[in-house]
Amino acid sequence: MTPQQPSVLLVEDEPAQREVLAYNLEADGFAVTSAGNGEEALMLVEEAAPDVILLDWMLPNVSGIEVCRRLKTRPETRNVPIIMISARSEEVDRVRGLETGADDYVIKPYSVIELMARVRAQLRRTRPSTVGQRLEYQDIVLDSETHRVTRNGKELKLGPTEFRLLTTFMEKPGRVWSREQLLDRVWGRDIYVDTRTVDVHIGRLRKTLCAHGDKDPLRTVRGAGYSLG
Ligand code: CA
Repeated sequence: MTPQQPSVLLVEDEPAQREVLAYNLEADGFAVTSAGNGEEALMLVEEAAPDVILLDWMLPNVSGIEVCRRLKTRPETRNVPIIMISARSEEVDRVRGLETGADDYVIKPYSVIELMARVRAQLRRTRPSTVGQRLEYQDIVLDSETHRVTRNGKELKLGPTEFRLLTTFMEKPGRVWSREQLLDRVWGRDIYVDTRTVDVHIGRLRKTLCAHGDKDPLRTVRGAGYSLG
């Protein structure tokens, strides 16, 4: 997984369908974790920390609906958007799917293009920077398409790591990120970086954000990590 790449957990028991979807998602820039059944999905979800979950309704043993219900009751996964995929088209199932907490619903056979559009629609809500959206927090504006950051209208020069750190903070103001979580998000999982490196880059980010005498928007939470506001 490369940093800032949006990630999908794909839960589908039919290998051929799983492969086609994984291929298309990866071609579209997603990091994909695949699960062939519900139990596996429930086990993988925390490690994978997906931005969106694509969940087949008809799964062996634990059904997609049950997986959805469980994910929506866990505090760690409650806010991850779930798109249910089903061969059933009856209105009653649609209602049941949404009642279980699914955020969207796609009926088989679906077009891959439509499914991708649905995934991106969920991302616009949860990971706006990955779909080129502008992020704003108080007087700070970050444009993920042009990589420009301004505060009070004045342009700030950030290094690539500081830019990714700020993006992470601005996507979820108020959320406390541990150093390990920031390492995963900003540097990527496959790279070994000391957690003290995080402090160094936070220091640089702070310095740039306060360069024009503005107040420090970042908060150090003792024993927990950092948050914006
Ligand atoms: Ca199935």
